[in-house]
Amino acid sequence: MRFGYQEIVTPIIEHEELIERVGEETDTVAKELYRFEDRGGRKIALRPEATAGVVRAYFEGGLKQGPQPARLYLFGPMFRYDRPQKGRYRQFYQFDVEAIGSASPALDVEVIEIAAGWLHESGISALRLELNSIGDHVCRPAYLERLREYYRPLKSQLHGDCQDQALKEGAPRITDHLCGPCAEAWAKVRRMLDGASIEYIHNPYLVRGLDYYTRTVFEFYPAGATGQQDALASGGRYDGLAEAEGWPSTPGVGFAGGFDRVVDVMAANGVEVIAAPAAEVVVLADAGEEIAAAEVARICRAVRSVAVDYEARSLAAMMRSADKLGARWVVLVSAEEVRRRVARLRDMTSGEQAEVSWDQLPERLA
Ligand code: AMP
Repeated sequence: MRFGYQEIVTPIIEHEELIERVGEETDTVAKELYRFEDRGGRKIALRPEATAGVVRAYFEGGLKQGPQPARLYLFGPMFRYDRPQKGRYRQFYQFDVEAIGSASPALDVEVIEIAAGWLHESGISALRLELNSIGDHVCRPAYLERLREYYRPLKSQLHGDCQDQALKEGAPRITDHLCGPCAEAWAKVRRMLDGASIEYIHNPYLVRGLDYYTRTVFEFYPAGATGQQDALASGGRYDGLAEAEGWPSTPGVGFAGGFDRVVDVMAANGVEVIAAPAAEVVVLADAGEEIAAAEVARICRAVRSVAVDYEARSLAAMMRSADKLGARWVVLVSAEEVRRRVARLRDMTSGEQAEVSWDQLPERLA
């Protein structure tokens, strides 16, 4: 990753209580948790998201002792036991990015920039980024009290949808009632987004359900999409999560992108997916020259990815297959050349071909 993030792998199978400890206040986690009993009667859950496991790895895997913040990413399957429908699957794939160990709002913007870049590179450029701050344990309780006070005398009026909408619009907004440090962070995040030329919409109703989320929350939607179900990536700061998991209080920020939904939108936009070449070099050898072909491949692997075609076919058929692989070079090895330890190196783009000694192949391919 060009932002200096390292890949991390965490378990897919977890003890049920471990996941519930983090998410016990939410209905969704409890309701959607994919759980079962294993043959030993243990209560097992399939991970519903990545952050909790990544935060645990930060403490247990020694990342806390490394450079801070730990910048990590993960790609893998997540599970939620819900009624499957379009864009909502029981097994789905997330691209997850986490920066743990720093409270700097600059990192909130960094992960937003990574999410935006990932979606752009996936060919989805018409995006809507929704942004909000939900304060922290200092300012949020006072704000919630204010909100309750606002709604208390209006309770009897809460029916008809359009009335509800008007009441909602008049309700106090948390971004007007942030404590000093949260207000500063909120201003910094918006300034830095402007600096990165990333457009956003302030959505004062955007929240994340759990208590351990603090300050920045954000969601990316395809332009024009309205339902929450359409979110392509969602994230935010979770300065209270480590403590909720029973670790020392440690700030963190990240996002999770839904791969399945991104692929759906790419398909709808007609984005053509071209797979990267499996090998940069393909070695083609005469029948019976497998040992030499393997040796030539070993030499070339010092500088390039190399595949060997071991199928006994005509040269033309082998060339066609090398072309399909998208290889940039083909190395031809004939019985006569093996004795002299030379091969023919063919540049598939220019069509040029030259005799090269095996020892010189790495230099020619570099
Ligand atoms: P969340 O972890 O709920 O914040 O979700 C992060 C992202 O994962 C969402 O923005 C979706 O793109 C994707 N996602 C969440 N749940 C599902 C699901 N059941 N099926 C497919 N994608 C999902």
